[in-house]
Amino acid sequence: MSEFRHNLITNEWVVVATERAKRPSDFVGSKTPKTIPEYSESCPFCPGNEQHTPPALYRYPAEGDWNIRVVPNKFAALKPTDSLERVQEGRYLKFGGFGYADVIIEAPLHNQTLGTLSEDNVLHVMKAYKARYDSLSADERVDLVTIFRNHGVRAGTSLEHPHSQIIATPLVPLRVRAQLEETQRYSANLGSCVFCDIMKEEKKDGRRLVLETDYFVAFEPYASRSPFETWILPKRHQSVFGAIHLNELKDMAHSVRTILGKMHRGLNNPDYNLILQSAPTKEEDVDYYHWYIRIIPRLTTPAGFEMGTGIYITTAYPEETADFLRKVKN
Ligand SMILES: [Zn+2]
Ligand SMILES: [Zn+2]
Repeated sequence: MSEFRHNLITNEWVVVATERAKRPSDFVGSKTPKTIPEYSESCPFCPGNEQHTPPALYRYPAEGDWNIRVVPNKFAALKPTDSLERVQEGRYLKFGGFGYADVIIEAPLHNQTLGTLSEDNVLHVMKAYKARYDSLSADERVDLVTIFRNHGVRAGTSLEHPHSQIIATPLVPLRVRAQLEETQRYSANLGSCVFCDIMKEEKKDGRRLVLETDYFVAFEPYASRSPFETWILPKRHQSVFGAIHLNELKDMAHSVRTILGKMHRGLNNPDYNLILQSAPTKEEDVDYYHWYIRIIPRLTTPAGFEMGTGIYITTAYPEETADFLRKVKN
């Protein structure tokens, strides 16, 4: 028997197809680990090649050898110099490609990743996220700041050097807007934040829980779209990432590093996307939205049915994959 499961945040359905269901261990990659060098002469992000990127917008430490550098994306799709003026072109509408695109170079070492770096280094990456979030969201023209990380070719990157990206857009795209409408409706009907309620439910149930710290909870969502999808949420209700406190940032670094480390060791370094979903900058203090991190290992490929309907077919139960991840040593 297969089953449909409902996603409270998006109002979408997923199918857990037990006919094709696999055990969590079936997803462990079989590729022999590639030996990546600590330094690559041709890599624009390696130390010594700073002239191949635009000047840094942020660096840590401020002086001397750097641990973290944030630079504008040299091949940015959006630029702050482009115009926001709307232009009618026949039946169609367009405007200039205004926005910001940052690259966060997470470490000087070419062969590291957030799951293998020291916790202290990951904390400095999170501090860079926060500094750039604050700076970009202060621009009145920006409506949404999206932080994300693509790891591996199946996740959309061929650049090995550890890095994250931030894109600030002058509009709130439909997918985000739809989530806001759903969560707003939930809050109007039930008087509470759906994310806070989901966290309570996950802690009570426990089967999908992977990690709990003082300030964060990580679990596999009930209606996971794909095997091993994992969400990390701050326990304190906060709509935008910019509202995080320093002591929470430490727990965030610990949680992100632990989950990615477990995936790295347990699933043999899978390709994945990490997305930090935050409310729009102009809805920074609302009771219906709660920022969170989604990590989606690219173990399956969405195809025609998923593209045509938005219904994802997953081949693993989150209860089983969460249990598998819990058991991978930290
Ligand atoms: Zn490099
Ligand atoms: Zn909440």
